[in-house]
Amino acid sequence: MSTRLRIDILTALPRLFDGWFGESILKRAQDKGLVEVYVHDLRNWATDKHKRLDDYAFGGGAGMVMLVKPIHRAITALKSERTYDEVIYMSPDGELLDQPLANGLSTARNLLMLCGHYKGVDERVRQHLITREVSIGDYVLSGGELAAAVLSDAIIRLVPGVLGNETSALSDSFQDGMVAPPVYTRPANYEDWEVPPVLLSGDQAAIDAWRHEQAVERTRTRRPGMLDTFGEG
Ligand code: SAH
Repeated sequence: MSTRLRIDILTALPRLFDGWFGESILKRAQDKGLVEVYVHDLRNWATDKHKRLDDYAFGGGAGMVMLVKPIHRAITALKSERTYDEVIYMSPDGELLDQPLANGLSTARNLLMLCGHYKGVDERVRQHLITREVSIGDYVLSGGELAAAVLSDAIIRLVPGVLGNETSALSDSFQDGMVAPPVYTRPANYEDWEVPPVLLSGDQAAIDAWRHEQAVERTRTRRPGMLDTFGEG
């Protein structure tokens, strides 16, 4: 199978990504050749002898701001080699990441993700170099690296062939507008904690009906707004 998705990540702290992409599903996606992930050290594009990536904010105030120039040089170099579907800045005030957003990005061929640090990036990066801004939630992290890892994981597992069973990503929470029903495995009775008998009945129609009911019930209690959207409320 040929590579379906390439992700390039720009960061001041490339080693933070070592663990994330080196294990489990994300590693297998790369070993199978379905996905390529390249983590680039922004310092490769720093221009002064101290390899500076940040400077004081105009107008004063605490915190450093990431320089336009190294980011501009990095993005220009990467864009000269391929066309990116999106150049994404990870940002707390960006579009909130949800399943539909991940689904949409999973059909891309090339994605570039920029991780900020300190107070964030010079606003001109966002004005001139970025096509999309994504937040992983309404809270502030110290850097964009975890956010880029979260976004990459959510996208990569949707790429066809990455999960063993093609249907399994579709049965996850949110894919049909509901959260997932509970799951159980052996033993059927663990210290008197029992598995719902229907799951052991062998009656697939009854099992499917039970799972659907459970999903509706869980969604009603945990994510009530979601049912309104899908008309099950
Ligand atoms: N001063 C900025 C926060 C900077 S946090 C503000 O108030 O908006 C430093 C970096 O962490 C950001 O540049 C961004 O890349 C990343 N980051 C922080 N929280 C994030 C979130 N919820 N989602 C995505 N990226 C985030």
